[in-house]
Amino acid sequence: MQAWILTHPAPISQQPLRRVELPRPQPGPGQVLVRMRVCGICRTDLHVAEGELPQRIPDLTPGHQVVGEVVELGPEGTGELRPGQRVGVAWLHAADGGCRYCCSGRENLCERAEFTGWSVQGGYAEFVLARAGFVYPLPETLGDAQAAPLLCAGIIGYRALRLCGLGEAGQGQWRGARLGIYGFGAAGHIAIQIARARGAEVYVCTRDHARHQALAAELGAAWVGGAQAQPPVALDAAIMFAPAGELVPAALRALARGGALVLGGIHMSPIPPLNYDWLYGERLIRSVANNTRADGREFLAEAARTAVRTRVREFAFGEANQALKALKEDAIAGAGVLRAP
Ligand SMILES: [Zn+2]
Ligand SMILES: [Zn+2]
Repeated sequence: MQAWILTHPAPISQQPLRRVELPRPQPGPGQVLVRMRVCGICRTDLHVAEGELPQRIPDLTPGHQVVGEVVELGPEGTGELRPGQRVGVAWLHAADGGCRYCCSGRENLCERAEFTGWSVQGGYAEFVLARAGFVYPLPETLGDAQAAPLLCAGIIGYRALRLCGLGEAGQGQWRGARLGIYGFGAAGHIAIQIARARGAEVYVCTRDHARHQALAAELGAAWVGGAQAQPPVALDAAIMFAPAGELVPAALRALARGGALVLGGIHMSPIPPLNYDWLYGERLIRSVANNTRADGREFLAEAARTAVRTRVREFAFGEANQALKALKEDAIAGAGVLRAP
């Protein structure tokens, strides 16, 4: 099969991913083989390719937002899955199921978790192995390319919305709440749709006037400004998707008392010293790490209910390095996806 691999991380302008021919993997017990149709590209893939996140296995194939078709079942333990079924393969490849985190509904924090396209081979390839218990059925209303960004950008945004202190969907605090979103790429453009459907006003701070700010306005942001701009109202909560620690002080200063700032990225540049006055007033900063399968299922159901529409730019399979370079340069409105060869 054709696949992209990373042998030595390097700046994306040096094209660190290499296109190679690999044997088609064989599913073992509990595994299924999925033929990739579309794989979303994610900032995490860029962090790995450039070495900001350590490489966990040699000759890694990145990619963790796979929409594809089950083509082969392992010898046992594959449940209800059948060949021909469309599924999504996401970031959480597996968790051990037995640790204190897993046993308390927090498998996203499992210290022995495996991650697609980081600790196991991912979806920038014709085929990918997945654990049967960790794949998702996808809303039929969305085509392959439109569904792919839901699998990481969407789910992580959903978990960030859950942790931002405004409660679950359907609770009263959402109606009229003022939510800030910092950084408006793939995750931001999905999160705003969920937040607005719940009744929130959304204030977007992002660089790139031509693409990201324009898309935020088009998706109904109450206000759009630059990355460090101060929104016109105090925010009840804010989510930062930009991997830029220097934005944390500005986001904290924009919060109303009691507000939470949720950091949605897996990697962030250093955060400057914080003035305690900005935090005082019961403000809170927290990160989001991975997601549970329950997050994934609940998000996909809410995305289908609220008719989330993703904005997608498709890249040919041969353009993996160019796609990640475009992501780095803010040149993608919405989410980028890689088509199967
Ligand atoms: Zn565990
Ligand atoms: Zn991701």
